[in-house]
Amino acid sequence: TESFLKAIDDADALNAYVHKTPEIALERAKAADARIAEGDAPDMCGLPIGIKDLFCTKGVASQAASGILEGFKPEYESTVSQKLQDAGAVMLGKLNMDEFAMGSSNETSVYGNAVNPWRREDNDAALTPGGSSGGSAAAVAADLCLAATGTDTGGSIRQPAAFTGITGIKPTYGRCSRWGIVAFASSLDQAGPMTKDVRDAAIMLEAMCGHDAKDSTSSELAVPNFEAMLTGDIRGKKIGIPKEYRLDGVPAEIDKLWQDGIDMLKAAGAEIVDISLPHTKYALPAYYVIAPAEASSNLARYDGVRYGHRATLAAGDGITEMYEKTRAEGFGHEVQRRVMVGTYVLSAGFYDAYYNRARRVRTLIKQDFENVFAQGIDAILTPATPSAAFGLGEMSEADPIQMYLNDVFTVTVNLAGLPGVSVPTGLDSQGLPLGLQLIGRPWEEGDLLNTAYALE
Ligand code: GLN
Repeated sequence: TESFLKAIDDADALNAYVHKTPEIALERAKAADARIAEGDAPDMCGLPIGIKDLFCTKGVASQAASGILEGFKPEYESTVSQKLQDAGAVMLGKLNMDEFAMGSSNETSVYGNAVNPWRREDNDAALTPGGSSGGSAAAVAADLCLAATGTDTGGSIRQPAAFTGITGIKPTYGRCSRWGIVAFASSLDQAGPMTKDVRDAAIMLEAMCGHDAKDSTSSELAVPNFEAMLTGDIRGKKIGIPKEYRLDGVPAEIDKLWQDGIDMLKAAGAEIVDISLPHTKYALPAYYVIAPAEASSNLARYDGVRYGHRATLAAGDGITEMYEKTRAEGFGHEVQRRVMVGTYVLSAGFYDAYYNRARRVRTLIKQDFENVFAQGIDAILTPATPSAAFGLGEMSEADPIQMYLNDVFTVTVNLAGLPGVSVPTGLDSQGLPLGLQLIGRPWEEGDLLNTAYALE
């Protein structure tokens, strides 16, 4: 713990941690030592980890990287971070992210972006660690913790994992309790581990998940010992390769990486099957209606009364001016855009045309997956991202669609509620990491991680 705390201080330039908690870390490390001495050490006893700023942590600033939650220190601990604490993990601090987890580059954070520890070989420009869990990815990749929590609404665990050469799994919707995690889009949000490798992901996922009476969407299914399922034996598994994920404009290197992954799984004894997920092309538009719709409703609670920031009022201002000024000051541009889009698609005149239509598309996307699983497919292999990490400031704020296209391979998984894992599988010609994604059947994270293990 001490050596990680020192490494964190030495790496301030990466801006991965937004709140450091050295006193808490040392206290918990001491408690872990005592448990180990007593022979009562749970799985993650004494392991130093980072927690994404989206998780409420008792008595510790939890701002979802937003100005509107300035000064907010929750009175409670999120279920997932509590479970990790119970498993003996030591929190080193809170990690940077896009504001309210809206973004793909960590650039919407009120703290400024985290920086990817990787650099291109031919040019030293700073790169994004991805988003929204960019601080988590940068911290794991730069050895500023052994592992970190992330959350994934449309790709926020898998894309930053791919950009930084680490492993990240978004479990099945309902595997982890969402209680105490600041809500973005409640029907899509899931927590998951971001780790050095698949084995660490299996160990940490087991500690994070399980039923919670405080989240009615959390599953009552028993939590398996995921690590014990890592046999590396995938003989006879059927791996689907969806033709709709072959997109124009994706660099040849990504196609090659995909082919290498196919070859590796085949060499390990898996059967490769061409499949079709015909509604894939509607996933991004549906996601960017549903996610903002839910966000606009979830973010209504930030009104200057209940949490965080409140604007200074002028003489004569009433409660309406208080709400308006507080929200205008407290929310960044991307969050404001989502609230406006969400409010629009939910408004009486447009609800059917946008929101209901997007929900119908979501059902079709889910059925696409159900159909291929019914044909005996065990997992689906795709690229995790359409490119390697891009330069900070490279995607213009004036063209949000360009940024949204980053999520093209990941959002289908959230819309269908399925587990998805991103595994680092190679480097591009500039020496930057690239990742492949495996999508699994619902509740079969153990099997999915085992297939990922064979790719590693
Ligand atoms: N990049 C996507 C978005 O901006 C996904 C974010 C996430 O998964 N939290 O909505």
